[in-house]
Parts: sequence; structure tokens; C-alpha cells
Amino acid sequence: MTLDRIAELGIVGAGGAGFPTSVKLNTQVPQLLVNGAECEPLLHKDKELLMHHADDMLRGIRISMNLAGCTEAVIGIKNKYHGVMDAIQPKLPADVRIFPLPDSYPSGDEFVMVNDITKRIIPPGGLPKDVGCVVMNVETLMNIGLDKPVTHKYLTVAGAVADPITLSVPIGVTIGEVIEMAGGATVSDFGVLLGGAMMGTVAQSLDQPVTKTLGGIIVLPSDHSLIKRYKMPWAEIHQIGKSACDQCRFCTDLCPRYLLGHPIEPHAAMRALMFGTSNEQLVAATLYCCECNLCSLFSCPEDLDPKNVCVQGKPAAREQGLKFKGDPSEIETHPMKDYRRVSTKRLILKLGLDNFRNVGPLTKVDFKPSKVVLPLKQHTGAPAIAAVKVGDKVKVGDLIGKPAEKALGARIHASISGTVSAVNSSVTITA
Ligand code: SF4
Ligand code: SF4
Repeated sequence: MTLDRIAELGIVGAGGAGFPTSVKLNTQVPQLLVNGAECEPLLHKDKELLMHHADDMLRGIRISMNLAGCTEAVIGIKNKYHGVMDAIQPKLPADVRIFPLPDSYPSGDEFVMVNDITKRIIPPGGLPKDVGCVVMNVETLMNIGLDKPVTHKYLTVAGAVADPITLSVPIGVTIGEVIEMAGGATVSDFGVLLGGAMMGTVAQSLDQPVTKTLGGIIVLPSDHSLIKRYKMPWAEIHQIGKSACDQCRFCTDLCPRYLLGHPIEPHAAMRALMFGTSNEQLVAATLYCCECNLCSLFSCPEDLDPKNVCVQGKPAAREQGLKFKGDPSEIETHPMKDYRRVSTKRLILKLGLDNFRNVGPLTKVDFKPSKVVLPLKQHTGAPAIAAVKVGDKVKVGDLIGKPAEKALGARIHASISGTVSAVNSSVTITA
């Protein structure tokens, strides 16, 4: 398989922002790291795919290793998943091995995982290739191994639903339909987190479509603290943050990027907010926040929101062209790094998710949607340009959108057979 073929299939990173995979693999590095950490609480999609679709993933690993010139692949799996490791181990060729990762958050953060496996530190603002690695998600590799256009998405549905499950659905079905496939919500008044409890977003409507990057749907009662937190407006975060931070530093002392030696100190960003002060290095430091939300949802004893204070600082840092000025070779991990890991169990308790079943078995669901809405932007880069018009008949896998010439982007394919009934920022197909 070639990089062009991967682009043709519309494959993008299935576990993050949807970076086009053909661009990511256009590199030459010695090591391929497979990110199977899946550290978001209650999500089970990658673990289930490792258990049930390892052969497809291993084909994807071999293709990716060939394309990126890798001599070794390492699959990062949480050390608690003994059954998964035992099932995969006999299938592994000599140049592919498993690395058991700690069951902590955020063990799936690229920078944290690269350091756990290789002991190398990606420099602030850098990429895994800076330390000789390319990092790929389990489902992305599986999509490469399948050698078919990306038309379906695996995801876990968890929280306040009757039957938490992991399933594959046509891209473009609504999240409301997917929640019904998990037996429906168990409460009448609920909110939905898309992507995860720690790094997700609140769904604006149950009609939002499933995209190529959605890995989890968490249903929670509307009065759950997480739903309230995610809905808090910036003006309120700002007001409370300005008056209530006691500068205890817990946010910094537990920050996974600070512990890697990166120049990010959320307590300092909070101090700047309180006193209305700012300096170049403080503003620049916010760029190195990975937005894991640990400081806001776990570390801060005052329930403040240092993560969003950091996020708000990023545009100014980018506008001013600020960058890390130190010598990356001098960066060292904090001596307490390994003792300050936040276990998933403690995180689930703190988030108030311990009342929900932490399971998500891969389940085949026979579902034939009457309509799908496929956004033309489901990936990093420019939106795709529609390649169909209203009235066109399409079959599953047909091309319906492609990137402009030389633009960074991804192809979009029909996920059901039917007739194109609308074309705007999305393509609607009616069965
Ligand atoms: S943990 Fe909370 S109170 Fe403590 S320094 Fe950080 S933002 Fe302030
Ligand atoms: S969200 Fe908070 S804990 Fe996470 S990297 Fe940013 S500052 Fe650190």
C-alpha cells in the first residue's frame, strides 16, 4: 500500500484531531508506537478492537512500518488488560512488542506515552518524530489494514445508558440514534459528552452526527457536576479564578507536561489572571498545555479551571509568535513524575463516574439508518469539497468529498447507499 492509497481511503487519526494519516506517515523514523492506552474513563473502544480485530491492526502496523521505515513497533496497552495482552502476544512478529502502560491518566497523551515507552522527551512544541517515533492509534492502523474507504466508526457509549457498549456505526448517524442502540438513556433529563469525560465537549443537540474522530459518547444526568462544569461560561470561570486561587500549586505539581519537564505551570497562569500581570515566558508556556483537563477536573481543591485559563492564553502566545527558548537537550523529567501519576480509579471517583458501569463490550448492532449527514470537515485541515450534487445516487464507499488541490485535508465517502438529498457544509444521504 502507498501513501496515496491511504489518502484515497480517507484515513485520518481516529483517536484525536483527525490528522490525515498519509501526511503523518510521510516520514522516516525507527519506531512506530501504537497508542492503545485509551485513558478516558469509561471508554473501551481501543481495548475491544485490540481484542477482536488484532489481525487487521497488525496488517496496518506492517504497512505503516514499511512506509515510515520503522524497524520496530511497540504496542502500548494498559497493564491491567492481561487478557488482551495474552491474546495478542502469540500473533506478534519478532519486530513488534507490547509495552504495558500504567493505568493512569493521561497515559494516552502522545508525549507521556513516548516518554513511558522510550524514556525520551518530545521537546516543547515538538512532534514524536523529533525523538524518532511516529505514534498511531489502534483504530487508525486497523483502517489501514482493512484497505477500504472509511465509512464506519467504532465508539463506546457509556454513562447513564441501559447497556454500555462498543459498536461500529455508519459515519453520519446521529448521536441520539447511537444512544438508543445502547438501550437509551436511563434518565429523562440528560446531557451528553462527546469524546470523553476529560477532554470531551458537550453535545449541542442529539442530532449531531458521528464523525471519523468520535471515540466515545458519555450520557450523564443534566445535574451531574461534569455537565455543569462543561457548560460554565468563560466569564464565570474568569471571575471565580480571579478571586479564589490560593496558589497551592497542586495544578502544576500534578500537571503531566510539567512533570515531563516542559515549561508549563498552570498556577502561574492563574496568578497572572489574579493580578492582571503577564510576561512573555508565562504566555508562551500556555502553548505547552495539552488540555488534558487534569488540573481543572482532578487537581484543584478549589474547583477552579486552570486548564481553560491556559487555553485562553494560547491565541495571544501564537499571535506574538512566542516559543520555548530553552535548550531541549537540557529538559529532564521531574524526579517525582512516577509517584504523581493519577490512577484511573481515583479519577473515576473524583469525577463522580463510579456509579456507572465501567464496561463496553464490542457488540454487533443491526441498524439501517434512513439518513446520514456527513460533515465535509471531520479532520485537521481544510474542509473537503463536495464531489456530489443533490439527486446523485451513491453506494457505500463512493467518494462524496475531496480536498482542494494541494490542501491539507481528507476524502469523505458515502457511509450508506442512497440519494444525495442536501449538500452544504455536510452531505446528506437519504436511503
Ligand atoms: S490548584 Fe487551584 S487553587 Fe491551587 S494553584 Fe492551582 S488553580 Fe490555584
Ligand atoms: S490541562 Fe492542566 S494539567 Fe493538563 S497539560 Fe494543561 S495545564 Fe497541565
